Amino acid sequence: TAVKKTKVDTRAKPAQSGVNPDKIDEKWRPAAVIKEPEPEGDTYLTGKKLGRGGFAVCFEGRSERTAEIFALKVVKSHVEQKKQLEKFRTELQIHAKMHHPSIVEFYRAFAFENYTYVVLELCPNGSLMDMVKNRKSLSLPEVRRYMIQLCGGVKYMHQRCVIHRDLKMGNIFMDCHMNIKIGDFGLAAVVVDDKERRRTMCGTPNYIAPELLGKKGALDGHGNKVDTWAIGIICYAMLIGTPPFASKSQTEIYEKLKQLQYEWKEDCQYFIPNQAKNLVTLCLNLNPTERPGMDDLVEHEFFKMGAIAEELDRSCLRSRPLWL
Ligand code: ADP
Repeated sequence: TAVKKTKVDTRAKPAQSGVNPDKIDEKWRPAAVIKEPEPEGDTYLTGKKLGRGGFAVCFEGRSERTAEIFALKVVKSHVEQKKQLEKFRTELQIHAKMHHPSIVEFYRAFAFENYTYVVLELCPNGSLMDMVKNRKSLSLPEVRRYMIQLCGGVKYMHQRCVIHRDLKMGNIFMDCHMNIKIGDFGLAAVVVDDKERRRTMCGTPNYIAPELLGKKGALDGHGNKVDTWAIGIICYAMLIGTPPFASKSQTEIYEKLKQLQYEWKEDCQYFIPNQAKNLVTLCLNLNPTERPGMDDLVEHEFFKMGAIAEELDRSCLRSRPLWL
């Protein structure tokens, strides 16, 4: 495939061997004081638990040097299993290179007492998934705001040939000003751009196997359109409250998806205009080459036909903004 790894020195080391892989359970807490090795050598005082995923647990960590609070992601020791370790390395290498207001800032990663710690920008207001669950669905000005921010972050990644590949509401976090921050680069990939691909492909096109040319999404420069699809799903879910193809089993979801079988409920909290439906329809195109890129998306009529929420506060996590 056209996927290659960046060479970034993240200075992260995997957790040392010989650690009980089940050590991080519900009750697990990191040491009260976590010391980063020199030259940075900062010390973090650990605070409350922020959440846990399949692969890591997150705690608040206050820097002794600056008093700033970060999210400390503690990677479970069984990441030593090959696949997990690979996921972790990719995540660090790609995430460390991303600097954008809509992307969780990655500061550093280091090993301390058998665990690997990743220092991330703190997102104290949970994930977009939590908010949508609490609110059932979001108002149009909010959806516009979060979509614009999301497309901005994804545009930045795509410009740098990075495909996120795991965009979902649970991987989109909220900062203290209710701005979205894209996180979890565990499935992200770097795609060789067209120019470089031409250079790395064999000298003469006469020898190129047909399957290399035909591999849609891998070599045709449209690989990043998987993110456009995911953005369509996220937009629908913010408007309606559940993803479009939601079903009991994975097989059912795939069946519906392949036939684009989804509908717009009539009994929604908020009226859903055709422009919003059209935006989702454009993203959920079975042919990746026909899906819009980020530049086209932000120019969509949906963003011009009505208000975009500006200042929001954390009350929006539970209830609609008062001005609506
Ligand atoms: P995994 O790689 O295991 O999926 P995540 O990156 O999803 O781990 O992190 C696990 C949980 O930690 C998240 O669901 C979220 O609740 C919390 N979390 C992750 N990153 C942050 C952050 N930057 N700020 C606040 N909480 C976070």
